[in-house]
Amino acid sequence: MEASAKACANIALAKYWGKADPKWNVPAVPSISLTLSQLVTETRVRFDPSLSTDEVRLDGRRASAAEAARVIAMLERIRREARLRSSAKVTSHNHFPTAAGLASSASGFAALAAAACAAAGLKHDPRRLSALARVSSASAARSIFGGFVELPAGRRGESDLSARQLAPADHWNLRLIVALTEPGKKKVGSTEGMERSRKTSPYYQAWLEAAPGWARTIKRAIRDRDLDVLGAAMERSTLAFHCCAITSDPPILYWAPATLAALATVRGLRERGVSAWATMDAGPHVKTLCRMGDAYRVRQALDRTPGVTRTWIAEPGPDVEVIR
Ligand code: ADP
Repeated sequence: MEASAKACANIALAKYWGKADPKWNVPAVPSISLTLSQLVTETRVRFDPSLSTDEVRLDGRRASAAEAARVIAMLERIRREARLRSSAKVTSHNHFPTAAGLASSASGFAALAAAACAAAGLKHDPRRLSALARVSSASAARSIFGGFVELPAGRRGESDLSARQLAPADHWNLRLIVALTEPGKKKVGSTEGMERSRKTSPYYQAWLEAAPGWARTIKRAIRDRDLDVLGAAMERSTLAFHCCAITSDPPILYWAPATLAALATVRGLRERGVSAWATMDAGPHVKTLCRMGDAYRVRQALDRTPGVTRTWIAEPGPDVEVIR
């Protein structure tokens, strides 16, 4: 009745923005990601008949009501499947900043799905775990798998949609340099942001039409290990989704001055012949994809960029792992 799991966050290369079905959390566009070994969540779940309610601890403190509610919603689904009635104690640690645009929800809900299923005695295969994690957070569906991962677009009511691995971590020895800019939590959560874009951005429909093309290009580039093609498509996908966010009503601008400074740094590196490509999620931080041999040079350039507070080098990471 007790298990732990470790999952890594992932960064989308083909960006996810927009839901086909908000109730089941089904994405309206295909997304492709890279799981990162340095962004780790560890979660322990214990079903305990002596507990009167679920207890959730996150990063050494009691989870807020909103955080606990998302965790409990997943526990409820698992209890129904396992025909279990006990309450649970959940203890989770993100070994990187929570809710800051570094995809803690991805590793958080992937680790929770794996640990809670194992503790409840459910022997789900990875695809089923991925579908379960997706209902809590679409990016969590991708964090069940290591390496390069695709989550297809789905249809309304497609409750069993899951991610799949395109290539394992050792397929391509890339590096992703994470450059933190402004500290603190993101101002508009992804779920709220996507719904606002769907309802109000005049560019949302154009985004839905264009996003699958970038995802196809990125998939081919991963297969061919072609960083220039991947990087160019990733930057276009990134800027297009931010364009949707910026043109929502009220507008959602996730960038800080340092975001633009870091983008200029990455462009400058390219002008000097380094294949470096930037992406930003629903937050101000800049993540730069490059070859392993260029990682230190790219990091140094970002470290020197005004407003960048911290950098680290991340590499392709493994599947979710259950530790008893
Ligand atoms: P991020 O970019 O970090 O994913 P989000 O705002 O999209 O930011 O998601 C952060 C939310 O995900 C948190 O407020 C919390 O509800 C949930 N979350 C983050 N980490 C965990 C975790 N380890 N276990 C359970 N839920 C988590």
